[in-house]
Order: sequence, then structure tokens, then C-alpha cells
Amino acid sequence: MEAIAAISTPPGYGGIGIIRISGKDSFKIVDKIFVPKNKSKNEIEGYKMKFGKIFDSNGKSIDEVLVTYFVSPKSFTTENMCEINSHGGPVIVKRILELCIDNGARLAEPGEFTKLAFLNGRIDLAQAEAVIDMINSKTKKEQEASMSQLEGNLSKKINEIRKEIMDKMVDIEASIDYPEYDIEEVTKASLVETLKKIDLELKNIESNFDNGKLIKDGIKMAIIGRPNAGKSSLLNAILNEDRAIVTEYEGTTRDIIEEYIVIEGIPVKVIDTAGIRSKTDDKIEKIGIEKAKKIAQEADLVIYIIDSSKEIEQDDKEILKILENKKAIIVLNKQDLKQELSIKDMEIKNTNMPIIKMSALRKEGIEELYSQISKMFKLGEINIDDSITITNERHKEIIKNSRKKIKESLNAIDDNLPIDITAIPIKQTLDELGKITGATATDDIINEIFKKFCLGK
Ligand code: GDP
Repeated sequence: MEAIAAISTPPGYGGIGIIRISGKDSFKIVDKIFVPKNKSKNEIEGYKMKFGKIFDSNGKSIDEVLVTYFVSPKSFTTENMCEINSHGGPVIVKRILELCIDNGARLAEPGEFTKLAFLNGRIDLAQAEAVIDMINSKTKKEQEASMSQLEGNLSKKINEIRKEIMDKMVDIEASIDYPEYDIEEVTKASLVETLKKIDLELKNIESNFDNGKLIKDGIKMAIIGRPNAGKSSLLNAILNEDRAIVTEYEGTTRDIIEEYIVIEGIPVKVIDTAGIRSKTDDKIEKIGIEKAKKIAQEADLVIYIIDSSKEIEQDDKEILKILENKKAIIVLNKQDLKQELSIKDMEIKNTNMPIIKMSALRKEGIEELYSQISKMFKLGEINIDDSITITNERHKEIIKNSRKKIKESLNAIDDNLPIDITAIPIKQTLDELGKITGATATDDIINEIFKKFCLGK
């Protein structure tokens, strides 16, 4: 039998569970375990659902289900496919999956359905990558950028650029094959023009990556400060805010719980250094300078919170120095208490970091903190609607490498090197760009990409 099967709904309890099966023999396998209620209508039609029951090998009924049929090539993988909608209990979906396996299907690998869609030519590699990005989206902006890629906007642009290069390659080949026609000079001039134009287009896409990265990975924000400065209180104030969205998701490879808030559509990951520290009862433990350094290195933004009802201490002075060259905001907390410390204090005044006055306890100053973050990262200027936004590090590298090759080509032309030598980096640009859509991607790259998918997708 030739078919793969997997549970496509997330683990746990829910209204519906979906078991997916794809492959030449998927209808045969489903036929062995599924009996439709209306037996007189036995023919299989694409996009049709049948109601009935799943039975095990002893004829014992397992669940009432709906089975959707997708007839090749009109399916996600382009193969014959079925989706069995059962009740969404973990025992039920597992039993139905096992029945599929017992009857000849193989357990699908993570991302194998999408990989088939790619290998069978229904989507290209960039679109396949967009599928996983869609699923993993934390914000509306990220999801919209992924959808644009899924719709093929990036691929279309890359294909257009590759087509232009290919056309030029044809001219180059001609001038190599027929040197007597003296077309080389003409070829060179238009080649330079095309390469410069392409480089500009790639430059625009590349420069959009910073926005793309912000949309996808967001801002890593660490809250640091001496014990009792109010780190936990600030964290709570942030996470309890109405507009704060707390996402709790378990990574597919590591079980981590991350907390995100969303500021102007951009995910801000709050690194809970308070949480790390609260395990220790040592009240006089000072925040280590080294630790502050490490956190500052890892974070895109550091919120340094100071208890302004107390005098500034030596540690604070040193930490302020470390933060000088980082994106950091000073929060003067506990404004509701008698102030021992003010912005006029030399150490604070001397930093060029923005300063926010706050009472974490009364949840005052949080909005100001948000607008400061927005200002620092220019969040208001991020607009993905009328440009191609790449969010993927892999794509950025490819574009960077392609631009390097274009530069090499232009230098070769400039140096008046023979056209066949010039053609080498041009051909390499073509190959490099093809890695985005998968036209020239190796099996290793492809396998690496699909490994990141979840089961059943
Ligand atoms: P952390 O050790 O830095 O995480 O500090 P906490 O958030 O646990 O706060 C230490 C103490 O300071 C707690 O008793 C808080 O209630 C108090 N606290 C935090 N922020 C404020 C504030 O803005 N005003 C006042 N009066 N007390 C605060």
C-alpha cells in the first residue's frame, strides 16, 4: 500500500480531531475501516463528505465520523487524500490513526504532507516555508506577511528576476557561440543595465528584512534591576494589561514557555529575569554585573528598573555604564513613594537612555513605556502592504549571496574580462536565487526545511 497518515489536529481534547491520509492507496485503506451510512452512494467524488462509522478489525465500532475525499490532483499533496473528522479525543484519533497504519499506511514524517505538495509541484519552497510561518504566527502582521509569501508574492518576484537573468544568459551564449557577429559589446551594455536593476530590486528586498525580522521574531526585552526594584511587579502590570496578549506555546523541539506582549502589531518577548532570580531567597543577593552584561547582550532591549525611593548604589552605576551602548530604557519605579532619587542624579542624567517614571504597583507609566519602545524601534513605520517582506534568515542569506555574485559579474565586465568568464558569476546568481523557490535547492536544504514542521502538516 502507498499512503501516509497522521493526526493533523493538536494533541489534547477538542470538538473535532482530524486524521489525514495521502497517497495512491488512501481510498482503499479508508474503505477498509470506514462504512458510510448511505451505502448506496458508494462512488468517490472529490470535495465530498461522507458520514459513517469507523470499525476496527473485529467489527467493533470506534467512532462516528465524517470523511472528506480529495481526488488527485485536486488535493493539498496532489495525491488522493482523505481527511477523517472524528471526535476530538486523544484516544479516538490515536485509534483511528493506528487502524490506518494497520491497514497499510505509513506514519507520516513531520511536514511530509507539505513536502509532497512541494515535490509534486503544487507549491514552491518559499510557499512551503510560508505554511509553517503561518501556523507559527504570533501576531496578525506576521500572519499577513506569511500569507503574502504563501500566495507566491516573493516567489513571483524571484521568478521574474531569474527570468531576466536567463534571458541575458541566452544572449551571452549567443555571443560566445557566434563571436563573428560582434554582438558582445551590445550584450555587455544591456547586461550591465539589467544587473544593476536587479541588484536594486534585491537590495530593496534585503533592506526589508529588518522589518521582517521584527515582525517574525519581535523584540527580545529583558527586565533587569536590583532585588525589590519592582521587576515582578512591572512584569505583572505588563501581562495583566488588557491589550497584552500572553501567548503560551510549546516549541516543536524544545518545551519552552514564552510570554509575548504585542506592541503595535509587533511581538515583544518578555524575558523574565525576575523568574530566574526568585528561586533564591538571598535577600542581599546583588544583581551580578556579569549577569546584567550577559542579559544585555542577549536582549534587543533592556528595561533597567530602579527603585527611586532608595539611593542609587555602586552596582547601579556600573550597570548603567554597561547599558550605555545598548538599546535600554531606565524605569524609575515607585514614584508613589517618597523619592530619594531623581532624574537630576548625575549617573542617571549622564546616560543618554530614555527615562520613564513609573509606579508598577499602581500600573502607572506603562503606556509611556510602550510608546517609548515604539519610538525606539520605529514600530509605527512598519508597513508590509506594498512591499515584499522577507522574514526568513535563509532567504536573506540567499539574497545577500546573490548580490555578491552580481557585484562580481559587474566587476568582471568592468575589467573587460571575456564574456564567458563574466558568465560564471551570473550563472551562480541564477542558481543562488533558485534556492528560494526550490528550483535549485539541494535535498539537504529541502530536508532541513521540512524537519521544522509539525506532525500532520
Ligand atoms: P523584584 O524583586 O524586582 O521582582 O521586585 P517586586 O516586584 O517583587 O517588588 C518588590 C516590592 O516592592 C514588593 O513588595 C512590591 O509590592 C513593591 N513595589 C513594586 N513596585 C512598586 C511601586 O511602584 N510602588 C510601591 N510603593 N511599591 C512597589
